[in-house]
Amino acid sequence: VPELPEAETTLRKLTSIIRKTIAGFSADLPRGLRITKSAAKIAKDIKNRKIAALTRTGKVIFLWLTSKDSHSNALKNVRINSVKSRRRNVKKEAYERVLALHQGMSGRLLLKRRANHSHSPPRKETMDEKYVRARVIFEDGRELLFKDPRKFGVIWYGSPREIEEDRYLAALGPDGLTVTFQEFKHRLQKHKGMIKPLLLRQDTVAGIGNIIADETLWEARIHPKRRLTSLTPQMMQTLFKALKRVLLRSIRAGGTTLRDWKHPDGKSGKFQNYMRIYGRDGKPCIRCGNKVRRIIVGSRGTWICPMCQKYAD
Ligand SMILES: [Zn+2]
Repeated sequence: VPELPEAETTLRKLTSIIRKTIAGFSADLPRGLRITKSAAKIAKDIKNRKIAALTRTGKVIFLWLTSKDSHSNALKNVRINSVKSRRRNVKKEAYERVLALHQGMSGRLLLKRRANHSHSPPRKETMDEKYVRARVIFEDGRELLFKDPRKFGVIWYGSPREIEEDRYLAALGPDGLTVTFQEFKHRLQKHKGMIKPLLLRQDTVAGIGNIIADETLWEARIHPKRRLTSLTPQMMQTLFKALKRVLLRSIRAGGTTLRDWKHPDGKSGKFQNYMRIYGRDGKPCIRCGNKVRRIIVGSRGTWICPMCQKYAD
C-alpha cells in the first residue's frame, strides 16, 4: 500500500481543488524531489497557478497546472469529469507545469482547512501536522498536506515535457485500470520469469502492488511462482479479467487502510474487510476450505491457497 486503488480513491476525493489557485508550497523531502529539486524554486514557480486537471497512471497522481495568467487556455479545456471518466489523456500542450506525486510506502494526502489556532482543538492539530513532508496551499484557505512517515514518497515538478522525459515516469507501463487485453498480453509475454514479480513491476502494468497481485492470482487460480512461458492463452485471459475485477472491487471499497494510508478527507478504506487471500495465513481458503499459506516470492510475503493455486512450471 498504497497501490492503484488507493491512488484512484485519493484522486476522486480531490476534485474540489480543480480550478483553485495555488498560493504557496513548501517541502522537506531532500531526496524525494525530482526534476525541480529545490522546494524554494517550486514555491516561487507554482504561486498563482491554477489546478486545471487531475490524472493518474498506476500509483502516480498528476496535477496539471495552468500558466500564471488566470485567463489561460488550459482552464477552458478543463474537463472536470476527467477524473471519473476512463479517458485520462489530457491535452498536454495546454498546461505549463505538472506536479506529480507518488505516495511511496506509507504516504497519503490530506486536504483540509488551514490551521486556525483559535478554532481547532490543539490535539487534532498536532495529529494533522505529524509527518507532513510537503504542503500545497490554496488561495481559498485550504491546504493539501503530503504526509509520509517512512519518507519513500516522491514529488516531481516540471514542465509537461520534463515530466514526460523523467526516467521513472517515462518507463511506467499502461495503467492497470485502463490497459486492454492485447496490451496486457503483449507486456507480459516479453518476459519469461515468474508471474508475481512481473505483475509488481511498474513498467509492465502500472499500479499493481502486493495486495492486488495476491488477490488477482488467487482469483485467477494461478500460482505466483508460475512461469510466464507456461501460461496458456486461457489463463492469460482469466488473469486479465481477475485483475480488473479485483481493482474495481478495491476502488469501490475506497482502497485498503492497513496502517497509515487514508483518504484525503481522513476516512479509511474498507477493502481490508473484503480481501480473500492477502494476510489470511492459517485461515481456511474461502473457496475450498484448505489452509491459506504464506510463502516468499521474489522477497515479498505472498499468500496462496495451495489447493486452488497449484504450482506448475
Ligand atoms: Zn482454495
